Formats: sequence, C-alpha cells, structure tokens
Amino acid sequence: MSPELFFGILQGWAFAVSLAIGSFLNVCIARMPEDRSVVSPGSMCPSCGHQIRWYENIPVLSWVFLRARCSACGTKISALYPGVELLMGVLGLLLFRRLVPDLASVDAAHLSAWGIFTVFVAMQVANTFIDQKHRILPDELTIYAAPFGVLAALLLSYLGYEGHLAINWQQSVVGALAGSGVLLLLIGAYWLVRRVQGMGFGDVKLLLAFGAFLGIWSILPILMIASLVGLAVGIPMMLAKGQGMRLELPFGPFLVAGSMVWVYFGTELLDWWIPYGMLASGAL
Ligand SMILES: [Zn+2]
Repeated sequence: MSPELFFGILQGWAFAVSLAIGSFLNVCIARMPEDRSVVSPGSMCPSCGHQIRWYENIPVLSWVFLRARCSACGTKISALYPGVELLMGVLGLLLFRRLVPDLASVDAAHLSAWGIFTVFVAMQVANTFIDQKHRILPDELTIYAAPFGVLAALLLSYLGYEGHLAINWQQSVVGALAGSGVLLLLIGAYWLVRRVQGMGFGDVKLLLAFGAFLGIWSILPILMIASLVGLAVGIPMMLAKGQGMRLELPFGPFLVAGSMVWVYFGTELLDWWIPYGMLASGAL
C-alpha cells in the first residue's frame, strides 16, 4: 500500500468515526434536556415506538434509503438528523487534517489530540442545538466536562504532544478558573449597573469547560469573537424588532462560535495577539 493511499484511508476512517459521533449527538440533543439516559433504551421512532435496527441507524445513508420515513409507521424523519451527522463528519475530518496534517504526524500523540478535540467539538455542536431549542446548556456538556479537559491536558503532555492546541495542565486549570471568573465578574458588574442578570450561569459553566480544554490563552480571543458575532447578529435583530436593549439572545451559541474559531485557527490567533518571542522563550 502506498503511503498516500494509507493516509487517504486514515482520513476516510476519521470521517466515518465523526459521522458515528454525529449519530450519537442526535441522541444527546434529544434526550439530555429531558434528563433521560443517552445509553438506554436504544433509539426508537418517537411516533410508534418502533425499535430502530442497526441497519436503519447508519449515519446519513439510512435516512436516504428509508426515504426520510420510519419503516414501521411511515412518519417523516427530520432532515436535522442526517444534517447533524454530516456536520459532525465534516467538522471531524477538517480537524483531522488540522491536527494530523501528514503521514509523519501519525502517532499516538497526534491521534489522541484529534480524538480529544473532536469530542470537544461534538460537545459544542450538541450545546448549540440544545441551547437554541431549550435555552439551557446541560451540565454534562459544561461543568462536568471540565475535569476531563484537565485530564486531557495531562494525557497529551504525557504523550509529548506539542502540536496545534497543545496545553499543559497548569494552563488548563488556570484557564478554567480565569474563564469562569471573568464571566462571573462581568455578570456582577452588569447587575450593579443595570440591576438585571445579563448572562446565565450556564455561560459561566461553559467557559469553565472552554478554559479546561483550550487553556488560559483561549479565553480572551473567545470572549472577543463571541462579542463581535453577538453584535453582528444582535444589532440587526434589535433594529428589526424595535425592542431596544431588552432583546434576550442566548449567549451560549456565540461563545461556542468563539471556541470553534479557536479550535480551528487558535495557533494563528495566538501568534497574532501575544508578542512573538514570549512563547518561544518559554516565558508563558
Ligand atoms: Zn414509526
């Protein structure tokens, strides 16, 4: 087998794994807001209770072959399901190309980094869909996930990973504390001035997880990008609806957008906002 073919097969494998993660995300998005188990019972048709068999549960393909209908009762299956699977497949593949750029980087350290940050991206896809629909960010995908961010930093350091998104456990812990601390301060300041709570504590827990997985240097860029995206989306909506400053937008999806920019372009952003040499000299 030629090295090029092997690397191509590896990317196909990464895409397939990401599609499967997307399939599991559909279960999380449907069940987590209702506090139901994401493991059992198996998937079933919400209309007739038909148990979905393994060959009816193949990402994207089954939806196409079933012509978007339940095989038992014929109820339409939303295009959102294959949509989430395809979105996750593409995001996972793009991340693979970013974190494992060539055949020389195929080792335990780089593949582990891909696995960890693909799970992180998947959590943010679930957060976005759940926050849009239910206006909540589940604890499982925020505060309970934060310790795993510290463990991930420890594991990647142990494996000697030094590529894109590499952080040590100190940066992870300080990032979690700084991320949640900054948001708590903002909420406090906003409350003192306007006597209303500007953001939810779900956002604080979300930034706790961001700091743990992405480290201290990601917090400021994520907050800045989230604010810019929030303004770009919020101001036209306020003008259109004429609600002045009273319009309430969930801030979670904007924070998620910031974290996604960091996951895919963080190294470039870091070079841009920290004076060159401070990182190279090991001062940070
Ligand atoms: Zn059915």
